[in-house]
Amino acid sequence: MKPERKSMSLKWKVFFQFIVFAAIVLACLWIFQIVFLDSFYKHIKTREIKAASETIEHNIDNEELDELAVRIAQEGNMCIAVYDSSCISLLSIDILPDCVIHKLPAFVIEEIYARTVENGGEHMEIFSREAFFNRDYESDSFRGGVPGRDGGMGASLIFAKTVKNAAGDEFLVLLNSTISPVNATVNTLRTQLLIITVIMILLSFLLALVISKRIAKPIVKLNESAKELAHGNYEADFSVNRGDYREITELSDTLDHASSELSKVEGLRRELIANVSHDLRTPLTLITGYGEMMRDIPGENTPENIQIIIDEASHLSELVNDVLDISRLQSGELVFNIERFCLTGLIGEILGRYNRLVSRDGYTISFEPAENVYVDADETRMAQVIYNLVNNAVNYTGKDRLVRIVQRVSDGKVRIEVTDSGEGIAPENLPYIWDRYYKVDKTHKRAHIGTGLGLSIVKHIFEQHGARYGVESEVGKGSTFWFELEAKSVEEI
Ligand code: ADP
Repeated sequence: MKPERKSMSLKWKVFFQFIVFAAIVLACLWIFQIVFLDSFYKHIKTREIKAASETIEHNIDNEELDELAVRIAQEGNMCIAVYDSSCISLLSIDILPDCVIHKLPAFVIEEIYARTVENGGEHMEIFSREAFFNRDYESDSFRGGVPGRDGGMGASLIFAKTVKNAAGDEFLVLLNSTISPVNATVNTLRTQLLIITVIMILLSFLLALVISKRIAKPIVKLNESAKELAHGNYEADFSVNRGDYREITELSDTLDHASSELSKVEGLRRELIANVSHDLRTPLTLITGYGEMMRDIPGENTPENIQIIIDEASHLSELVNDVLDISRLQSGELVFNIERFCLTGLIGEILGRYNRLVSRDGYTISFEPAENVYVDADETRMAQVIYNLVNNAVNYTGKDRLVRIVQRVSDGKVRIEVTDSGEGIAPENLPYIWDRYYKVDKTHKRAHIGTGLGLSIVKHIFEQHGARYGVESEVGKGSTFWFELEAKSVEEI
């Protein structure tokens, strides 16, 4: 026995998985919304201001630059100023109440100009407006504002760019945009995230409850039914709601199928016990009865009585052999020895063994092959097949006691047909005759004694050879059992 492992119930498992998922989502939100919010925001602002400066650069010769600049300033919420190379203002759009660039003295503009040229044409500065307004520009210390840090008033982003027009004159484009303090936003987001976390935990629990109920309920039901099945109740109900998950409905179908297969096996098992015990008991009773009679009454010690004992014993051994054969065929234990041999010759040989029967009981078995046909197959097993088919035909043929065996060769195939003139088999029984222990006539007439295994063995052998086979039967007229194998020529070996 495997040691029992305590496994978590579906509900808690789903709940923990949801919690892990929620934790990952919240961590992502936390990182992006709180930790990186400031840098994202600045990055976006920088991109906007740079894009605006490029638009102005491309339109520096445009007559409608003024109107365009107003639009850009309004859309981007920024101030714009354009100076010529002598730092004389050519364009000034001042829409921000606390704009920095419009308050800068000329010498600072000049200094920014110089620094922009020094930097290769672009210069960016972020500094605290608080610092800016508290500074004395004269003292050249306005740059002392700590870049990137905003006080309560937020920060200013200044972007300077030198551009040239078509005539080659240089201009300084100065843009100023505000960077609002994100602290307040971060605080709001933090509170919101805390609330969301609580909601997520509650939701995870609720969802886990609902989902586990939807999954677990049918599984618990299936489990109960499977336990019933294990106890031998083949009527156990495996139906689930069609609206359930596909995997569960599939599982229910599989269990349903398994239970119907098991009940079939159980039926077969019962039938086998009934058949085998009947088939074993009858010859055993006869053998014991005749044996005792011959022991006790000396006059009964006749060759006829001994023959009865021999016949019954051989029937017993036939039954045992069939049972062994079928179990070996089914377990794949039997190895087929495929060789080329003359099928026509084999049939002739087997029919030779029936000669005694033919002459004694008035049976006519006809077989008139036009040619000798060779096949690649296991000769012993093929002999078993032919013996079984002929034996059945002899057992079940009609009053005329005729059995006809026909060999047809066409398209490289040989077809053997064994026809009798008996009762035939009703169409509803036809699909079952190849099953184990299936007997159309369940009352065991001694004349038609059989094990019910013959055709099942025949079917297995055909299937192992990849042969086509079948039966055509008409009630009252007789049956034709046939099979087809590839015809080979002797030279091909
Ligand atoms: P059995 O040993 O009972 O003949 P088989 O497996 O050979 O078992 O055949 C299964 C059943 O198929 C038989 O019990 C019989 O009802 C039916 N059957 C087989 N061959 C014939 C036949 N030639 N004519 C009529 N019924 C047949």
